[in-house]
Amino acid sequence: RDEVNIISGALEMSQKKVEDIMTKLDDCFMLDIDTILDFTVISDIVRTGYSRVPVYEGKRTKIVSIIFTKDMAVIDPDDNLPLKTLCQLMPYNIYNVPVGTTLDILFKNFKDGIRGHMAFVTKKDEDGEEIMVGLVTFEDVIEEIIQEEINDE
Ligand code: ADP
Repeated sequence: RDEVNIISGALEMSQKKVEDIMTKLDDCFMLDIDTILDFTVISDIVRTGYSRVPVYEGKRTKIVSIIFTKDMAVIDPDDNLPLKTLCQLMPYNIYNVPVGTTLDILFKNFKDGIRGHMAFVTKKDEDGEEIMVGLVTFEDVIEEIIQEEINDE
């Protein structure tokens, strides 16, 4: 029964944590900020089918920005534009949530207008440094509520 699923999904929101539903770091499609947006890279981005691509600096655990796949439409591959330049032109405030954050809180923050509807799950590593361990989007949260995969092809 759909209604029963949705209600129980909603009730479990305060029990489930971001790390339970996130896309893990190894599975995240992301780009190094030192990437050049040439033909190959632009094709790779478009071919993934993702609408947002996190940008990291130095190591994959250090996210500094997000770019939007739709912006690739206005970039000339022959310009060999540095990704860094694009990030400077379109600054983006990333949203981090610590491991342990429950889904009701994440849902509320997305609903109240976290831009881009993407959050990075972070935790402290052995050296006390804040590192990214996965990403979570509004769609991941909605899927938990309706307890079904969303097919947005
Ligand atoms: P999109 O609009 O790109 O389809 P959604 O917000 O609909 O993204 O999320 C669909 C699924 O893809 C979610 O499970 C989300 O965690 C995952 N996802 C979104 N962007 C990326 C990315 N750049 N790399 C890996 N997984 C991603």
